[in-house]
Amino acid sequence: MASAPASSQARLLDLQALDTQLQQLTHARAGISERREAVDVAAELEVTQDRAVAAATEASDIARLQARADDDVQAVRARIERDKHLMDSGNVAAKELENLAHEIESLKRRQSELEDTELEIMERLESAQTAHTGYVAQVEELQARLTSLQAAIAARESELATQEQQTQTQRAAVAAEIPADLLALYEKVRAAGGVGAAMLRQKTCQGCRITLPESEITRLRATEPDSVERCDNCRCILVRTAESGL
Ligand SMILES: [Zn+2]
Repeated sequence: MASAPASSQARLLDLQALDTQLQQLTHARAGISERREAVDVAAELEVTQDRAVAAATEASDIARLQARADDDVQAVRARIERDKHLMDSGNVAAKELENLAHEIESLKRRQSELEDTELEIMERLESAQTAHTGYVAQVEELQARLTSLQAAIAARESELATQEQQTQTQRAAVAAEIPADLLALYEKVRAAGGVGAAMLRQKTCQGCRITLPESEITRLRATEPDSVERCDNCRCILVRTAESGL
């Protein structure tokens, strides 16, 4: 690549500006701040949903235990009623009356134990149900947060996509004005180092911010404007303008 019109070289700076802008848009898309938060919320949601399911299962297990405990209490009460009824009937021998009285005593102790158990189970059920209700509320809240974060991400993505599309259109128009061989060199340099072309401003390469040595400045002063020059340090196409300090 020996030469290209100075005006085409200058146009490379516009192209580079648009490419830098496109790069920033890609970074912006990857760095949408809500995305990280959405990942955290989604993970928390999954854990909380599992907890809600576990709490529901526990509550229904305890509810079954409660039903069984209720049945046990009912059975003992019925047995006591039956015994009392027998005793009151007057058709029972004295020895049997004594046996029935003993049985009622022991049934009442049993009833009291069973009622204590029933109470414990009720308390456990209540706390399991409270835990379940809490997790369900948390799941709803997390779902709402996730939905709003996802909406924010989608809105930002679409905004960035629009900007990117506009920039791509501008870039295509600028690229079309640049001679093919100069454009190819620009693309090759850019692919290697990120910066394809930079202005020489006040003897400093704007691609790497290195000030050129005086010997190089002297050499550049003597070159034709359409000679394509490269920065010795970062290899970018060095575009000379009125601000170059030559
Ligand atoms: Zn440089």
